[in-house]
Amino acid sequence: MGKIRVLDEQLANQIAAGEVVERPSSVVKELVENAIDAGSSTIDIVIEEGGLTLIRVIDNGLGIDAEDIGTAFFRHATSKISSSKDLFRIASLGFRGEALPSIAAVARVECISSSEGTGLGRRFVIEGGSVQRDEEANAPQGTDIAVRDLFYNTPARLKYMKTIQTEIGHIADYVNRLALAHPGIAFTLKHNNGLLLRTIGNGDRLQAFAAVYGTTAAKGMLAVEGEHPDYDLRGYISKPEQTRANRNGITVVVNGRYIRSFVINQAIMQAYHTLLPINRYPLAVLELGMHPSLLDVNVHPSKMEVRFSKETELREFVEQSIAQALGKQRHIPGPASTE
Ligand code: ADP
Ligand code: MG
Repeated sequence: MGKIRVLDEQLANQIAAGEVVERPSSVVKELVENAIDAGSSTIDIVIEEGGLTLIRVIDNGLGIDAEDIGTAFFRHATSKISSSKDLFRIASLGFRGEALPSIAAVARVECISSSEGTGLGRRFVIEGGSVQRDEEANAPQGTDIAVRDLFYNTPARLKYMKTIQTEIGHIADYVNRLALAHPGIAFTLKHNNGLLLRTIGNGDRLQAFAAVYGTTAAKGMLAVEGEHPDYDLRGYISKPEQTRANRNGITVVVNGRYIRSFVINQAIMQAYHTLLPINRYPLAVLELGMHPSLLDVNVHPSKMEVRFSKETELREFVEQSIAQALGKQRHIPGPASTE
């Protein structure tokens, strides 16, 4: 008898959970991304005690078919890709099929979903990876998923959690970014019954910006618009007078995905260049669109980092578009003049 064994599904999920579910905000991220992928126009997020006792996300999206709800909690089960070709043109936020099984491995999850629009759906309860219930239920169109007692069965991870204030801070930051990324979705975020964010979801990004940063900040923003054969860029940046002490006011969205990108940040800073006081940063929300094949999102499980295939070209395009919005007259070297 050999000594090597393939781990059972439950144990494998618990191990994966260590990567996918770092803290409450990771759960919020995964659930809200699922709601966005489902085409929802409203997403309501309810948090209690920094997400350690409750994270609930209610959407009005496509819903999960009754016969699929158990499968959705299997590892590597996804409706979003089906072949390796799809990996190179990912249009959805999710694709790994890891979030639901990972979350269910380290929490008590109740998922009620209906894809029928008939008022009937399914209620599925899973705790620490073991299914408790799978039954018919009354449910409006969409998905209502509640995650309770996160890390109740992984005491080491629970001990590592910071204060409620820190955890809700991470959650609010992430929801704010998603609201900026998706101005067409009406978001609410509640914590212990207090309302932290409400966007109206009319598609106006400056209104979403105002909901996050206040109307005064929104009034001082400049519109950015750039076109390029491979990319388009739109959004808002602050005037050089309106700066912050850190980069947190910069939100970069690529094909609907909020990302962190050194390249884009560099392009932004380069465009302002001498206009900014030293160690000061602008406010910005920028949405970059490109063909999915120009972008590799399969870098890290959290999918916050991406790789661009034409980095230098992209950096120049972003820098020029922002410089233009700032009204800077820049000499752009091009083909020799024929005049
Ligand atoms: P992924 O998002 O990578 O596909 P998940 O584990 O997050 O993997 O979800 C598994 C599947 O469950 C999704 O592919 C989707 O079909 C379904 N699903 C999850 N959440 C929702 C939701 N809010 N609305 C509709 N379908 C959902
Ligand atoms: Mg997902």
